Amino acid sequence: MAAAGTDEIVGLLRARGGRATPTRRAVITALLHAGDRHLGAEEIAREVREAKPSVAESTIYRTLATLEDLGVVAHVHMGHGPSTYHLAQAAHRHLVCDGCGAVIEVPDAEFADLEQRLNERYGFKLSGHHFALAGVCRACRGAD
Ligand SMILES: [Zn+2]
Ligand SMILES: [Zn+2]
Ligand SMILES: [Zn+2]
Repeated sequence: MAAAGTDEIVGLLRARGGRATPTRRAVITALLHAGDRHLGAEEIAREVREAKPSVAESTIYRTLATLEDLGVVAHVHMGHGPSTYHLAQAAHRHLVCDGCGAVIEVPDAEFADLEQRLNERYGFKLSGHHFALAGVCRACRGAD
């Protein structure tokens, strides 16, 4: 995640057949700057326009959708909030705290057993990236 640079992500974009326009680069850079934080579309637009004030907000939203179509960016729903965006290359799931809104990123592998069981018993293929799992974090439970 934090280890990847804009050039690496842009390389992925090109490999998927997308052109590396300045706006696309700026959106990718904003997501990289956010690190583990997940940005809403408006936050992304704000950050891109700080670097490039001439870019229209609508262009940024369209760029976000294009990057998502190309598989470079993914969105996830965290509880009741608006969808948030992250770079798609580091596959992970999200646990979101109902109390404080903290987001814990969890590697795909943590869900491998559950996925296999759900598939075997119910024929159900979990798409665990799209929605966060809700719960209460350690701090909010006051436990350790
Ligand atoms: Zn994420
Ligand atoms: Zn919490
Ligand atoms: Zn969605």
